[in-house]
Amino acid sequence: MLPPISRADLMRDLRVLGIRKGDILNLKVSMASIGYVAGGPRTLIGALLETVSTEGTLVAESFVRVYPLPLSEENSRHISDRYTPSYAGSLANAMIHYPGSCRSAHPVQSFTAIGKLAQTLTSNHTPDSYAYDVLRVMAQELDARNLKIGTDAKVTGVGTTHVAIGLLGLHQNRPALGTNYYDYATGEVKTFRLNWSGGCAKGFSNFIPLYYSYGAVLSEGKVGQADSKITSMKKTLEIELETLTRDKTFFFCGNPKCTSCRSWDFSPDPLPSSKAETKQESAQTPRSGLLKRVARGTKLLAREVITGV
Ligand SMILES: [Zn+2]
Repeated sequence: MLPPISRADLMRDLRVLGIRKGDILNLKVSMASIGYVAGGPRTLIGALLETVSTEGTLVAESFVRVYPLPLSEENSRHISDRYTPSYAGSLANAMIHYPGSCRSAHPVQSFTAIGKLAQTLTSNHTPDSYAYDVLRVMAQELDARNLKIGTDAKVTGVGTTHVAIGLLGLHQNRPALGTNYYDYATGEVKTFRLNWSGGCAKGFSNFIPLYYSYGAVLSEGKVGQADSKITSMKKTLEIELETLTRDKTFFFCGNPKCTSCRSWDFSPDPLPSSKAETKQESAQTPRSGLLKRVARGTKLLAREVITGV
């Protein structure tokens, strides 16, 4: 049997992989892939914090469940707040409870951060924000890096594909989903309706060869027993924007039965109900000012880049 993996082991592996003082990291971690870590995810967080130092910042998604709208009586009892458990795994939940962590106030796609820029990155991510705006800021304004611990098969994406989908305004027809949440600004419990497009996890891997070809993969190695890699969020976003501007369907998985890939405005073989849902959604969910602003930013960005999630 292998000995437990210690904080010192993790720090050594992280340094060899290329994690440096001052790094701003988006974490995508499969704890199970690392092996048995003494102390669990808190040990990894400690090792990461010591490696990036007080100058660095750790960010992880801490998304919460949504339910069909209108909410049933039972589901209406789930109220998203600062400490609602995330389905995103043990690291996410350890981040939520880590001393000094900040969690954004988005009721569903919340991000939790620790370190120098934690407050800055999370404080503007509110119920009115685009779901993945934290990652957009990290990619476009901070040149942050994505640390994936676990194989591409185990851990989906590099943090930026949803940003590209949002920036390009690609629209998916989704069922009405949401959750109740506690609005810290007003002290009221409100209902939040999901207002962004998702994407096909299988199809997101179509981008992987491009990340390698265009220099977005900065280093690869092991953390514990897990295959791990660092990618440049700025570069993966540029690659995704450029690719999706040329071909909106690039992230489709190719499975003719995939309901996710058949639910977009531009799906070649849309689900029969998609058109009706589109009308209903646009009637009920006017795009917020922020989304419009994001969409405008996208056009500018796409021009700059094509010029390139
Ligand atoms: Zn698919």
